[in-house]
Amino acid sequence: MLTVETARTWLSLFIEKLEVNEKYLNTLDESIGDGDHGANMLRGAKDLKAKLAEGFQAGLSDLFKMAGMSFIQKTGGAAGLLYGQVFLHMSEAFQEDNNLMDSLVSGLEGIQTFGPTELKEKTLVDVWIPVMEDIRNNRLTLEKINEYVISTKDFQAKKGRAAYVSEQLNGHIDPGAASCGYFFEAMLEAGV
Ligand code: ADP
Ligand code: MG
Ligand code: MG
Repeated sequence: MLTVETARTWLSLFIEKLEVNEKYLNTLDESIGDGDHGANMLRGAKDLKAKLAEGFQAGLSDLFKMAGMSFIQKTGGAAGLLYGQVFLHMSEAFQEDNNLMDSLVSGLEGIQTFGPTELKEKTLVDVWIPVMEDIRNNRLTLEKINEYVISTKDFQAKKGRAAYVSEQLNGHIDPGAASCGYFFEAMLEAGV
């Protein structure tokens, strides 16, 4: 069972990775979109970092609700709404129990609130779904996460801004998939 303490470490490590990789995520987004994914994510991350620094007392559900609000209010762009919904849906699942898999299933539903996103459409779903499968089978590693992120190079974008320039995108990693990779790396490193 996931504890609040571990989840806070998870989110803090995610924030750190977004800080360190802001420019890299912007560069990835320059190739396929408008070059702002790192800057967008950093705004939500900084807001959440400030809230966490105030000292957080409540439970898992409140923690992820707080994260969701940071990304919805501060991040902006497609990613703000996507990560916002992911965290709010995870928060809802944590109202029922502290089960990680239930929260990830719910988080995926959060992504799907913007319409059905299939595998191989060059989005964070390309990382989220195989990672969930690996967690179920107890075989998730940092290498596998990286593999899923890199796999998006070969996919044709069907969603968001990138869909408009889809043919030119082969060979480019999807920025949203990359930030999602950081989320799951942070999860493993936190010992979730
Ligand atoms: P914007 O495109 O508004 O500038 P960002 O650059 O922050 O927003 O985020 C772009 C990322 O959002 C993409 O790399 C992709 O992974 C993700 N994305 C966009 N639309 C969708 C969608 N409908 N479903 C899942 N992911 C999406
Ligand atoms: Mg963008
Ligand atoms: Mg934008």
